[in-house]
Amino acid sequence: MLVSAKEMLDKAKAGHYAVGHFNINNLEWTKAILETAQELNSPVILGVSEGAGKYMAGYKTIVGMVNGMLEELKITVPVALHLDHGGYDACYKCIEAGFSSIMFDGSHYPIEENVAKTRELVAAAHAKGMSIEAEVGAIGGEEDGVIGMGECADPKECKMIADLGVDFLAAGIGNIHGKYPANWKGLSFETLDAIQKLTGDLPLVLHGGTGIPADMIKKAISLGVSKINVNTECQLAFAAATRKYIEEGKDQQGKGYDPRKLLAPGAQAIKDTVKEKMEMFGSVGKA
Ligand SMILES: [Zn+2]
Repeated sequence: MLVSAKEMLDKAKAGHYAVGHFNINNLEWTKAILETAQELNSPVILGVSEGAGKYMAGYKTIVGMVNGMLEELKITVPVALHLDHGGYDACYKCIEAGFSSIMFDGSHYPIEENVAKTRELVAAAHAKGMSIEAEVGAIGGEEDGVIGMGECADPKECKMIADLGVDFLAAGIGNIHGKYPANWKGLSFETLDAIQKLTGDLPLVLHGGTGIPADMIKKAISLGVSKINVNTECQLAFAAATRKYIEEGKDQQGKGYDPRKLLAPGAQAIKDTVKEKMEMFGSVGKA
């Protein structure tokens, strides 16, 4: 059964580790992530962007697939199904469809409007026992076609949003989505520290987990980050493994064209990536 992400993240914050949020794109992705979480006895959050939601034929399709897998694969670790960077309408669609967690990304609105919409969605999510994440300060890089600048959130604005009752908060601290450029300045621990001082026990979320050096990840966790979003890294691992299979001509040997064979190396690459992240984040054995 899907669970809200609140309890697993409160436990992570208290225990000084982080839970991985891994974006899903299809059945292979979902199965690889769930199997790895179960093998490592780790809690996990499956993230679905609005774009991935459309790609997978809608939120209800995804809920059906994930619930089916939890039962058929006998997954017993805590699993949350979470809307990633949801707009206002998508949040309501996921509340109706049976997700267990949503993120409302109102970071592009003026702060007053972000506050008003977040307040309303907190009530709607909590009425269904779901958790809700909010965002302050746009996170750089590309979010489904929207390019941000990698800014740092204003800690006072973070406190305003935190006080609305959100369960965890994403705040820009110089992190960006996608690959990091060579001249990236690194995370702003000063900003993170200032945010945590004002928001207390609230779990903080680090988006754009791909390519942040391990020492920075560990420091961020020590300063209150309890959820780390990983997306691009699984995509790169999947693509590289699939490319290797094709370039070695394996799809042309025997029944190597069978999609169950063709997609197997990519799925294994996702499992390896997820395992590496769960070990780095410290969530192994915490289910
Ligand atoms: Zn993000």
